[in-house]
Amino acid sequence: MSIKTGPVFEFPDAPAPGDFVELRPGLLWLRLPIPGALRHINVWLLEGETGWMLVDTGMRVDGVLEAWEKLNASLPQLGQLEAILVTHHHPDHFGLAARLAADHAAPVFMTLRAQASARLLETERDPDTDPGLIAYAATQGLEIDGPTRTVMAGRNYQRIVSGMPADLRPLADGQELTLANAHWRVSVHDGHAPGHACLHAGDLGVLISGDQVLPTISSNVSVLPDNTSEDPLGDYLHSFTVLAGLPEDTLVLPAHGRPFRGLHARMGEIRAEHEDRLGLLEAACATPRSTLDLVGTLFRLERFDALNRMLAIGETLAHLRYLECRHKVLRTGVGPGLRWRACGSLGEY
Ligand SMILES: [Zn+2]
Repeated sequence: MSIKTGPVFEFPDAPAPGDFVELRPGLLWLRLPIPGALRHINVWLLEGETGWMLVDTGMRVDGVLEAWEKLNASLPQLGQLEAILVTHHHPDHFGLAARLAADHAAPVFMTLRAQASARLLETERDPDTDPGLIAYAATQGLEIDGPTRTVMAGRNYQRIVSGMPADLRPLADGQELTLANAHWRVSVHDGHAPGHACLHAGDLGVLISGDQVLPTISSNVSVLPDNTSEDPLGDYLHSFTVLAGLPEDTLVLPAHGRPFRGLHARMGEIRAEHEDRLGLLEAACATPRSTLDLVGTLFRLERFDALNRMLAIGETLAHLRYLECRHKVLRTGVGPGLRWRACGSLGEY
């Protein structure tokens, strides 16, 4: 007999676009459509003394502004949107921040590193000549096709994001937000995105996890041109050590999927998935391999569009980098001649 230890869901019905579910007094769950495999993002409204704080915003794509208009009609108090908090710079979270902030004259709170990441992707760069992209390709041993370079240069991002908000304010690890029904504490984590904020309300037993912990899919963890981390997967797994300090019965509100309990068990499942991938890559490096060859160990690139090719390359590199930082593999050469191989001992350094 096996005992199921994965996430336990307690809210069977997700809200339709333009509708909401009240999870606790003053804590609302909203769901907005996004294109692609994810199909939706969850965003949250937290009631303050005189209005609401919105956590994450949805992308600037068809259907989302309509959902906001419907919410405005069904939830008149939404007129008092006092503040917007964005967990991280990815377009499904940040996309409508500038637009909604302008509509409601609301400030936008983001960590400084999340702000910097958004600003970089909003900056016009030539995919063929950008020095950051050229250096990335060379140091990671890649020849990157044109469409994937275009995504890396932020061209898709700029289409689905409404620009930089006029009133951007910082958000920091340990910051406390006192709202009508709860004290929320900010914790800041890395790995999925630089400076990803989570919010925990100990008195409610609730964690807004953003993309840091998801119930049924694993968050992308990547070495990408705009990610400044030395070791994104190491950072990501370290965040689990920090979040493990929260109670196991915490109600987790993720950006994708349904609210769930079983935080520790779910982090254990995700950690095991990464360990499987690390094992596969280390074994593959028993003979010297190119980066693209190793991406093929984990993903079938030929099936992917440019965005997913970028994420698959980045994810593979995050695992290789993790192994490299722990002296399990090493790379020799640069550009297309770069090869990864397992190292037998520290003596190789
Ligand atoms: Zn994300």
